[in-house]
Amino acid sequence: MTGTIFDIKRFAIHDGPGIRTTVFLKGCPLRCFWCHNPESQSPSPVLMQYPSQCIGCGRCLEVCPNGALSQGEEQIIIDRSRCQVCGRCGAVCYAQALVLLGRQVTVEEVIAEVLKDRAFYQTSGGGMTLSGGEPMAQLAFATALLQAAKGEGLHNVLDTCGFARWELYEAVLPHLDLVLYDLKAGESSAHKIATGVDNALILENLQRLSETGVEILVRVPVVPGLNATPEGIAALARLVAALPRPVPMELLAYHRLGESKHTAMGHAPADLPDAPPEAELMHDLVAAAEAAGAECRYEG
Ligand code: SF4
Ligand code: SF4
Repeated sequence: MTGTIFDIKRFAIHDGPGIRTTVFLKGCPLRCFWCHNPESQSPSPVLMQYPSQCIGCGRCLEVCPNGALSQGEEQIIIDRSRCQVCGRCGAVCYAQALVLLGRQVTVEEVIAEVLKDRAFYQTSGGGMTLSGGEPMAQLAFATALLQAAKGEGLHNVLDTCGFARWELYEAVLPHLDLVLYDLKAGESSAHKIATGVDNALILENLQRLSETGVEILVRVPVVPGLNATPEGIAALARLVAALPRPVPMELLAYHRLGESKHTAMGHAPADLPDAPPEAELMHDLVAAAEAAGAECRYEG
């Protein structure tokens, strides 16, 4: 069994309890305008370019089989209409000015990497987290990873946007200890404008998940122009408070990390909000969520 990942992060401390290894799977059905990981959205590998790293050795120009690279006045120029994303340039670019993000790996390879830190999981209550992208977009691979990790006695976390058929969640549930469940906007049309999809399926899945025994933490990215007001967060908190059992919420402040990644992918600059929300606003939003009946936290 193989799947496509774009990163494995060891010693992660924000993706569930304890010290964890987070495996980032490629592919996502949403297109959030502020996405922190735009390189994760496509299911296929992407070629990233960081011109400031280039040392001008010219190796990449020699190996491209498609004539997609040329030497510009200030940097290597990529003709992305000719690039077949074969990765040969990245393989010879020791300066890491060209990097192919995304690789096929087996379940065994990933688990071997994850198990390197087993001792840390045992002392900290950590384990493995699947993130992305959207792990549910590679259901068979995600299920096999979770099953293998559970077979090793690890604590498993799924970080999901909630946009997958319920039957798919049923398939992974037996292998999960905690679900980090993203909520972005309570109002359907605002959700669609911000992410490309309606939120009906996401809300329905959250309701169904909360009817199971799995632990859930609802995570809300606080994004100016979308939900960064007391009213916007209170609307989400009311949805969470109405679930059949208490489910905690966590607010995460939007940041502009995705901006440089869009540039590295050769995209037009993303239309991002200027300023991340300040700590004072975040604390006000926590208060608004709690006034609306939800248990809420922010660890800024
Ligand atoms: S191989 Fe890398 S460092 Fe060398 S010219 Fe190409 S982009 Fe620059
Ligand atoms: S990924 Fe392959 S086709 Fe694309 S620029 Fe690099 S060597 Fe050329």
